[in-house]
Amino acid sequence: MYLGYAYASYRLHWDIPVCVFRLVTGLPCPLCGLTRSVGATLGGQITVAMRFHILGPAVVLANCCGAVVLLLKRQAHETNLNQQNLN
Ligand SMILES: [Zn+2]
Repeated sequence: MYLGYAYASYRLHWDIPVCVFRLVTGLPCPLCGLTRSVGATLGGQITVAMRFHILGPAVVLANCCGAVVLLLKRQAHETNLNQQNLN
């Protein structure tokens, strides 16, 4: 869901709301640019993504790995249930 929002906001150039952290503290925000970075990564523009936020490509990779792990766990669980039903 987050990846879809990030990609859409990057492609459609949605306005980014003002960062509350930076507004309140005046300090650079550690998360600002992450959504745009993820969107650029999903758009295949890794160099642009790294300029927005260095962790954007890592967030995309982690999400993809997480999805694969969840699919493998689900498949193993269903296989286990099928074997129990056969016995
Ligand atoms: Zn921020």
